[in-house]
Amino acid sequence: MASQLAPSRLPVQTLPSPVQASAARRLMMPESVDRNSILWPYLVGVTLFHLMLPLAFVPWLFSWTGLVMVPLGNYVFCSMGIGAGYHRLLTHRGFCCPPWLEHTLAILGVCCLQDSPARWVAIHRMHHQYSDEQPDPHSPLVSLFWGHMGWLLVQNRTLSQLSTYERYARDVLQDRFYLRLERSYLWVWVYVAHALAIALVGLAIGWWSTGTYLGGVQFGLSLLLWGVIFRTIYTWHVTWGINSVSHLWGYRTFDTSDNSRNNWLFGLLTNGEGWHNNHHGDARSAAHGMRWWELDVTYMTICVLEKLGLVTNVIRPRRAIDRSQPVE
Ligand SMILES: [Zn+2]
Ligand SMILES: [Zn+2]
Repeated sequence: MASQLAPSRLPVQTLPSPVQASAARRLMMPESVDRNSILWPYLVGVTLFHLMLPLAFVPWLFSWTGLVMVPLGNYVFCSMGIGAGYHRLLTHRGFCCPPWLEHTLAILGVCCLQDSPARWVAIHRMHHQYSDEQPDPHSPLVSLFWGHMGWLLVQNRTLSQLSTYERYARDVLQDRFYLRLERSYLWVWVYVAHALAIALVGLAIGWWSTGTYLGGVQFGLSLLLWGVIFRTIYTWHVTWGINSVSHLWGYRTFDTSDNSRNNWLFGLLTNGEGWHNNHHGDARSAAHGMRWWELDVTYMTICVLEKLGLVTNVIRPRRAIDRSQPVE
């Protein structure tokens, strides 16, 4: 990657502590938010998933395969689907690939239950346009909870207007594939279908390996619980954490007008999305990690796909940064 970087260097900046920075700029919710109007499908869905968390302590529903499917599924569905697909490809056009691969990445993203591609793209482009200003759909400068998940649970009129999608996601909706996913909430049914497919594969493997139907049910349910439900909860919170934590805590490399931060914990948890100040400083770059320690597995995967000839026109960082300089 270094050979493709320009020779100019961007100094690392030391900014006030996150608490000072956030306390200095408290924001109001967007004017278009009606906090008394609950989005019930979202509230009920998110609540039901979290209510299943105590099942993690039921030994009968545990399997090591299911446990491994949490980080593995985070990589496959969230890093490839949301990070590479929804975010770096559909939202920012950080690289090009054939339609079959683009649609595959988008379907992996759909399997994270984080809204349809068009809605995700529109909301995220709005976030970049108004980042940490009042119209930002999910700034944590309103409150940590608001930036993390509160914004999802109440009506924001702007986010339900057709004109918002015409303005922010027109290019996405010009592809009939994405338009079809919008119709009759097809994207939700795709999520349900992938969950059932994982459970049924587990049922078949468990039945075959134990020789009993009950063994199959046990293994299938463990994959459904850990490999789908808990993985979805995990990927929700690490993705939401980019909007909340990575706009409050961490270091800054780029002097952006927003409060975005490079947060090492979320950089690791999300396979690269947590280097969020880098991303706000150079939004089109397919690479979010820009120093050697800013591990960006999603970008590394994009580079592998490029080497295989499946991905082209990968957008590199505009400016080199001093990789040797320590950061506070
Ligand atoms: Zn972005
Ligand atoms: Zn941001």
